[in-house]
Amino acid sequence: MRILITGAAGFLGSHLCDRLLADGHEVVGLDNFITGNPDNIAHLMGNPKFSFQRHDVSNYIFVQGKVDAVMHFASPASPNPQSPSGYFNLPIQTMKAGALGTHNCLGVARANNARFLLASTSEIYGDPLVHPQTEDYPGNVDPVGPRAVYDEAKRFAESLTMAYHRYHGVDTRIVRIFNTYGPRMDLEDGRALPNLLKQALLGQPLTVYGDGSQTRSFCYVDDLVEGIVTLLYSNEHLPVNIGNQHEMSILQFAETINRITGNKGGITFVKDARSIRDPQQRRPDITRARTILKWEPKVSLDEGIHKTIPYFKKKLGLA
Ligand code: NAD
Ligand code: UDP
Repeated sequence: MRILITGAAGFLGSHLCDRLLADGHEVVGLDNFITGNPDNIAHLMGNPKFSFQRHDVSNYIFVQGKVDAVMHFASPASPNPQSPSGYFNLPIQTMKAGALGTHNCLGVARANNARFLLASTSEIYGDPLVHPQTEDYPGNVDPVGPRAVYDEAKRFAESLTMAYHRYHGVDTRIVRIFNTYGPRMDLEDGRALPNLLKQALLGQPLTVYGDGSQTRSFCYVDDLVEGIVTLLYSNEHLPVNIGNQHEMSILQFAETINRITGNKGGITFVKDARSIRDPQQRRPDITRARTILKWEPKVSLDEGIHKTIPYFKKKLGLA
């Protein structure tokens, strides 16, 4: 296939480019670098099966030649208010990437009779009242709350995707991605893994927001990419959760990072703006992925953190 990947210079987009090229496909990457990094795809430049367009998905997208699949990953993704690349600080761009960007990408898919895959998120469940989250749970999102620009853009994107599927017959897929980590994450984007692993490698105390009792489950990027690619190759049109089910409190997560890195800096509890409306519990129910895609994650948290450390050390000048 010839596959258009938006957000190609980002953390997940760049890993998807690698995987789909390895599977023998041709990839057209598209990105405006608002939160991504050209370094993430530098190794692909010169590959005859890879081409790149610098472009904002909120504007009309033109791709020369035939496209067989469109994967829409372009969007700011960090919820950290302190980070300039967090969606709190890019509110309009985030809503445009989810709304106008999804519309443009669906237009490319429809014009090419191509399949389409939307990168949605566990955030569409908001601060969930059902645990673990199944795909039929409609969520608990405040449309004017602190995370609304991201959550509502993704919810709109899912609705628009289903409208193109039901009304225009576009061959669509929706993946609801849960917290994922690995090499090529932006060390400065303020998400839990980059913040805490960076602090641990520098021998600093880890900043746990609130009392650290809020839970997440962290998926290693290779597992996630395998799930997404399997979904792309499938015929499933309804949303599918992809993530790891190993749920833990953020305090336990921080303790794990300190144990693995041997950090003696300890943990400091920070009263952060994020403590307000920080989703308290999150874990995917992956029954649908297990049943329909025969997929489940394989990489343990310890193994995944070990695989991520060399990248972080290099970026921090420690290796
Ligand atoms: P990222 O910030 O590393 O990647 C996003 C990429 O999209 C960046 O390269 C950025 O420059 C690009 N981009 C943003 N707006 C754009 C625009 N208007 N036009 C063109 N390019 C644009 O983030 P990520 O973690 O790789 O996330 C990728 C996708 O996966 C996002 O859609 C995000 O919502 C989704 N997601 C990620 C996670 C996760 O844990 N990483 C969880 C749930 C959903
Ligand atoms: N978190 C934290 N310390 C940090 C960064 C994040 O305690 O330095 C917490 C944050 O409050 C949230 C969890 O870790 O409860 C996961 O945060 P992340 O930014 O990775 O994404 P989220 O799951 O909130 O979208």
